[in-house]
Order: sequence, then structure tokens, then C-alpha cells
Amino acid sequence: MTFDSSPVQSIVFDNRQIFLKRDDLLHPDFSGNKARKLHYFLQNDFPNIHKIVSYGSAQSNAMYSLSVLAKMKGWEFEYYVDHVAEYLKENPHGNYEGALKNGMKIHVGRVPPIPTNKNILLIEEGGRQKEAEYGIRLLAQEIVDWQKENNIDELNIFLPSGTGTTALFLSKTFIGIGGTRPTVYTCPCVGDESYLKKQFLELESDEKFHPTVLTLEKKHHFGKLYKENYKIWLKLQQQTGVEFDLLYDPLGWRVLLAHPEVLSKPILYIHQGGVLGNESMLPRYQRKYD
Ligand SMILES: *Cc1c(COP(=O)(O)O)cnc(C)c1O
Repeated sequence: MTFDSSPVQSIVFDNRQIFLKRDDLLHPDFSGNKARKLHYFLQNDFPNIHKIVSYGSAQSNAMYSLSVLAKMKGWEFEYYVDHVAEYLKENPHGNYEGALKNGMKIHVGRVPPIPTNKNILLIEEGGRQKEAEYGIRLLAQEIVDWQKENNIDELNIFLPSGTGTTALFLSKTFIGIGGTRPTVYTCPCVGDESYLKKQFLELESDEKFHPTVLTLEKKHHFGKLYKENYKIWLKLQQQTGVEFDLLYDPLGWRVLLAHPEVLSKPILYIHQGGVLGNESMLPRYQRKYD
């Protein structure tokens, strides 16, 4: 299967006009950029594969999207986590509940086995692997086509990073195209800047293809609750009517707004989905700050 190209919308936030690439609308059952990263597996047949093995957190967007992929393909899906919070175990919701409903088998406190036969597909945490390039190139092509249609010569692109896979392959595709091409900016949400750069290097050793990394001065911990994050998330919803994800996007927007030089050209922000994960983050924020 293939995806129709996702729409681009023009929004105004804090009196700035910003283009928004709605990758969150790509597919009702896939979480935004995970649909891009897994596109290769959807597009091709794998007659020998009968199982996906992966690992990460029990709330992850990638976990949920893998459960959708496995279900569509008729594959088993085994997922390895360090731990599952008691509250989540007793009240399954969000990505965790969705993945279980799709047939995910979860292993707690065990290290994933390295597959020894060709019938098992190992997907790295967060879908960080070379096959992701296929779908992200299609995203890059959609952006280039949109630019041409709308006569937008210069363009900055911003998207927040976890593993950095999406930003890296996007940047690599554009730099490969040459000429006047968009510049890709990103920020680390999971670790710090040096962690993100290490992630880039694992996928692409030539740094000329890497995106430009922007940060805030203050340290930020993934999954922790920050009042500033909640405030900007609410404000985005009020001013634009768009629901963003609560883990990556609030930091992404804060970093972007702190860099006026990036906003001085037409700017395209990529909405990478993840809204199903808000089912667990939003009640936590409401309990703490409402
Ligand atoms: C997974 C995810 C990211 C991070 O993507 P990477 O390719 O790992 O950098 C960002 N935003 C959302 C909503 C995600 O689900």
C-alpha cells in the first residue's frame, strides 16, 4: 500500500505565518512519521517473515505503529520493555492499549533476543533503521513538489527529533538534490545534542548530510512534565485549532520560536503525529497544572 501525500496548511501562531505539513493525517492507524519510517515494509512483500521483534518504552508511538503493521501483514508482534508502570498495566490506554488490541505480545524486563532466523524482522527502537529512508524520501519529494506548486524558493524546515532518523534522512535527501533546497533544522527531545549527533552518525557517517541542530539553553528531560510545554501546547491548540503531540512538539515549538533567524524565511513545521500518546500525557498535565 501507499499513502496519499499529506496536506500542507498555513497557520498563524503568535503573529507569524507558518506552513504545517500534516503528516499526522497520513493514515488513521499510523502515528505520523512512523508511517513514513515503516512505509518500506508496507510497500513490499516479505513472504518469509512471520514475526516482528522490537523494543522500547511501553508508551511508544513506534510500538503502536508496529502493531498496526503486524496486523496488516498477518505477522506476530513481540515487544520488549524494561518495565510497565502499575497504573498503565491496570488501566491500559493510549498506544499501549491500542497495541495490545492489535495482538502485541509484551515481554517485560527481558532483553530482546537477536533473531537467528530469516523469518523474524528486528526493528530497532523508534524505527531507527536504514529502511526508514525509503518513506522519508517520499516525504521530501512531497515537500519539493509543494514548493514548486506554490513558488516558494527558499524554505526552512523544522521538526523535533527523537532518534533523529526522520530529520537525518530528510536532510540527506535534500542535500542530495542540490541547488536551492530546503534547510532542515531539528532539536533533540530524548537526549542532548551530542546524543542526537551520535544517532545521526550511526545512520550517515558524512556530516555534510546532517541536519542543523538547535537547542534551548536549559536541559530538558524526555517524558517529564514542564509547565512551559503545557502552556505552549494549549496556546497552539487555541490559536491554530491543531492538536500537537505532548512529548516532542512543545519542545520543538519552543526551540523554533527561540531562533528568529530560522523564522526569517518561509518555514515549514512537520507535524509528525503521536496524538494517541496524548491519552497518557494529557491527564498527567491536567492533574499537575489545571
Ligand atoms: C517518533 C516521533 C518523533 C521522533 O522521530 P525520530 O525519527 O525518532 O526523530 C517525533 N514526533 C513524534 C510525534 C513521534 O512519534
